[in-house]
Amino acid sequence: MRFTRLKLNGFKSFVDPTDLVIADGLTGVVGPNGCGKSNLLEALRWVMGENRPTAMRGGGMEDVIFAGAATRSARNHAEVSLVLDNAERLAPAGFNDSDILEITRRITRDIGSAYKVGTRDVRARDVQMLFADAATGAHSPALVRQGQISELINARPKSRRKVLEDAAGIGGLYQRRHEAELKLRAAEQNLARVDDVIEQLA
Ligand code: ATP
Repeated sequence: MRFTRLKLNGFKSFVDPTDLVIADGLTGVVGPNGCGKSNLLEALRWVMGENRPTAMRGGGMEDVIFAGAATRSARNHAEVSLVLDNAERLAPAGFNDSDILEITRRITRDIGSAYKVGTRDVRARDVQMLFADAATGAHSPALVRQGQISELINARPKSRRKVLEDAAGIGGLYQRRHEAELKLRAAEQNLARVDDVIEQLA
């Protein structure tokens, strides 16, 4: 799946609707300091389900909403959409019914985030899994932060293994295993409770 467009509206410094076409080949973003280059990368991470405020260079999740400037008042919501080319039908089951996938995340002050794939409301987890299965996502090694290369060089083998596993697209399997283990533990506790009840009745 190839990213073809990134649309921003009210996200950080992108107060006006902005439609960025991501053409074939290499895309470079150039501009003076502070013009919003890093905000574009953050928008990509955010729409893919990033939920750690620390990863978004802000104090809280609502800091991604345009906070106002000398001549513009603050906005009440921010929205980012990522358009994917799914002509090869590589999207995970459940999302594989069209050639183009548009994933949208919207945050509204005091309400929080909502996600959509096309016109369908989905959960944050669905979006995170969609990207994890496609070997990308908010934590993908393809999105390289400043200083990340030297971090990787100095990293322990276990951390480096995680980078390789994410690149191989098996990150989503670990998340599913973790969720299955939690369910199993809950089921075991329920069974233990049933045993107690049976014992009391006997
Ligand atoms: P550099 O090259 O210095 O890293 P950059 O081009 O990557 O700069 P960014 O860091 O993406 O620039 O953008 C920073 C700008 O975004 C700053 O001017 C900051 O005031 C603005 N900004 C960040 N968050 C918000 C927000 N919530 N509302 C309005 N403006 C914001």
